[in-house]
Amino acid sequence: MPEHPLFYDLAYLKGIGPQRAAWLESELGLTTFYDLLTYFPYRYLDRSEIYPLGTLVEGPAFVQTRGKVLRIERVGTGKAVRLVATLSDGHHFMELVWFQSIKWAEEMLRKGEEYLVFGKVGQYKGQLQMAHPEMTSWVEWSKKSGPFLSPMYSLTDKLRQRNLHNRWWMGIVRQALEQVTGNVSEILPVHLIDAESLMLRWDALEQAHFPTDNILLNKALYRFKFEELFFLQFGVLRLKNTRKLQNPGPVFEKVGDMFLRFFHERLPFELTDAQKRVIKEIRVDLGSGKQMNRLLQGDVGSGKTMVALMSMLLAADNGYQACLMAPTELLSRQHFDTIQSMLGDLPIRCGLLTGQVKGKGRKELLQDLFDGNLQLLVGTHALIQEHVHFAKLGLAVIDEQHRFGVEQRAKLWAKAGLAPHVLVMTATPIPRTLAMTRYGDLEVSIMNQLPAGRKPVQTLVTPESKRLKMFAFLEQQMQAGRQVYVVYPAIKETEQAELKFLYDGYEAMLRAFPPPRYRLAVVHGQMKSSDRDIEMQRFVKGVAHLLVATTVIEVGVNVPNASVMVIENAERFGLAQLHQLRGRVGRGSEQSYCILMHKGKPSDEAIQRLQALASTNDGFEIAEMDLRMRGPGDLAGTQQSGSMELKFSDLVEDSPLMHKARTYAEQILAADPAGNGELTGKLVSAYSRFYGQSKNWSKIS
Ligand code: ADP
Ligand code: MG
Repeated sequence: MPEHPLFYDLAYLKGIGPQRAAWLESELGLTTFYDLLTYFPYRYLDRSEIYPLGTLVEGPAFVQTRGKVLRIERVGTGKAVRLVATLSDGHHFMELVWFQSIKWAEEMLRKGEEYLVFGKVGQYKGQLQMAHPEMTSWVEWSKKSGPFLSPMYSLTDKLRQRNLHNRWWMGIVRQALEQVTGNVSEILPVHLIDAESLMLRWDALEQAHFPTDNILLNKALYRFKFEELFFLQFGVLRLKNTRKLQNPGPVFEKVGDMFLRFFHERLPFELTDAQKRVIKEIRVDLGSGKQMNRLLQGDVGSGKTMVALMSMLLAADNGYQACLMAPTELLSRQHFDTIQSMLGDLPIRCGLLTGQVKGKGRKELLQDLFDGNLQLLVGTHALIQEHVHFAKLGLAVIDEQHRFGVEQRAKLWAKAGLAPHVLVMTATPIPRTLAMTRYGDLEVSIMNQLPAGRKPVQTLVTPESKRLKMFAFLEQQMQAGRQVYVVYPAIKETEQAELKFLYDGYEAMLRAFPPPRYRLAVVHGQMKSSDRDIEMQRFVKGVAHLLVATTVIEVGVNVPNASVMVIENAERFGLAQLHQLRGRVGRGSEQSYCILMHKGKPSDEAIQRLQALASTNDGFEIAEMDLRMRGPGDLAGTQQSGSMELKFSDLVEDSPLMHKARTYAEQILAADPAGNGELTGKLVSAYSRFYGQSKNWSKIS
């Protein structure tokens, strides 16, 4: 297929050539005409305003002025040579200077001629000066009737050093526009353009670079935002549809003995309404004959493990195996222990597979799995190793999934003839807009209810100076038989400096709570995992009263007897992370506390963040706040591949637009469920051309 002209290599653009094309690629990642044309200006200057020379003052803004060039001369020698011209309106003067492209400037400038001069006003030895101004002959300029909004492109120093300035850039954009005229066809459906009165694609492209006025500029930018969000949603929704159509799943038609006996004989507590609802949603999916791809967002402590277990029992009831994957050794073990004790004497076998299961034990386990003697398997990444073969895998549950890459999930897929049902569970609530992007192709279940009888965690924001008071409080809690977490920041745990926080803290705690009366445990990411496990187990089993840790304990650890979470240097953590940490307490029936200690004088914004956390225990609310305060880039899990990057729009600001675009995409796909209509076809090809990815994500959950 011949390349579409929009995707020609930039080297073929007049005025670029291979060398400059290479620079554009290495500096800004631009390789095609389309890349260049969608590299929009970062701001626009109003060039209808012309300041008289006498009113100019030094400043960072680009301005226009007007005057006659009186004198042109070279000053200095060798490398220090520069070209200086004097500009005047008869009363006031300003110097114009060129340090580079001197010869070119000399040839261009005409003494005695009047110019429109554009640039930044600086000062040199008390004299106003403009370096490398843009010069337009006044006669030429006055013939022009706009547009007067001039684009400013974000260029790198390297490019500027190579003389690729804004003015040059404007030139190549014009050139590119000229070369692709007639090749920029509309890709959005007509009815949508009409309904939203969108600017057409070609016009929008032109206006985005060289706008006539603010109104048209806004329309142009809006159009590209809309286009991007529409195709984003079209892409994920289509993936969802295709999967529903194409991927049959194992049919779990009955609720059998295991599920029912567990429910009647073994269930240790009444399920929450949220748990009941989600289990029902899952049951419907599992019986539908289509592969389930469901995301379960449950706030910390909402009881996701129970939902996982009961879903797995449904698999067993229908002659299938099920597995539960967790991101760490410790969590796998914890899940395994929980499940074992919950199952009790039910006739069902559950195995544990982690990197630490070795030798004969491992061999037997794998054999049992292969023979189908093992119905449930819990484990770490070890589950997706090649030599792990299931007899009949019907359901895969992935806990705290953001630690699992999309590709790893695909490997799991390869373990079964028929696509297994997939349930992804996350304790990091995701803002709706983000979920729509990141997981827009999954069905979503939400558990926003904690088991009854839980007392909400009380959160306190306090400066370090109150440390002694905090110690006294910890002592009182430990006297009462509770356990305590103390967490130190270690953003980059590989760095010794970061670990120093932890070690200093550990020593301070040892002094405050000396053994043998108190027993401390310590865990961090750089310990050998077997050591970490031993320490962690001491805390889990209640042998240690106080656990000093980095964020390795963030995910999933369940110690209901722990009632206090102290977070040191809390200002260094993100909101979602703090919420996760706080979720480690408040799991029993006792009142629990979270103490956010901050060091020195944190910024207002940091304090605001901590106060915000203290004001609510609702993970969804916190996720929204985090998104607003920090932007999408920093949120947990957002680095996940498999979702496209937004070029024109902003996840936070354009959230309403995204909802709108999704509705349109839904309507179009609903009108053509089989996906073979003409409009769908056109949209699919536009999608793959402009927004597509190389990978086939439909095989990935
Ligand atoms: P998370 O959703 O954070 O993974 P867990 O599954 O670890 O939460 O559950 C947290 C705690 O709540 C566990 O001790 C669990 O036994 C308990 N739990 C779960 N569901 C209920 C319920 N319906 N009623 C009472 N306690 C529950
Ligand atoms: Mg959990």
